Amino acid sequence: MAMKCPTCNGDLELKGATSTAMGVTPFFDNGGKYHSHDSNGVKALGVCWNNHEWSVSTFFSCPADKCDWNKKPSILKLIEKD
Ligand SMILES: [Zn+2]
Ligand SMILES: [Zn+2]
Repeated sequence: MAMKCPTCNGDLELKGATSTAMGVTPFFDNGGKYHSHDSNGVKALGVCWNNHEWSVSTFFSCPADKCDWNKKPSILKLIEKD
């Protein structure tokens, strides 16, 4: 997973990745497909070589083919510094 800093396009080094997943119940749909909708994802701190810090959330994708839930984007948010 290579992420770029949206400000300077430098490579982001991810630090302190922690899974916040809890209480996720995988289920089978009417067609018998296995779904896992973990909206908690993984949160990490991304730092580029220019010291821009980003809060990064990566959502796990659902293993079912063509599941609409997979369209959910990752969140990338700049951490304001003084
Ligand atoms: Zn940067
Ligand atoms: Zn699904």
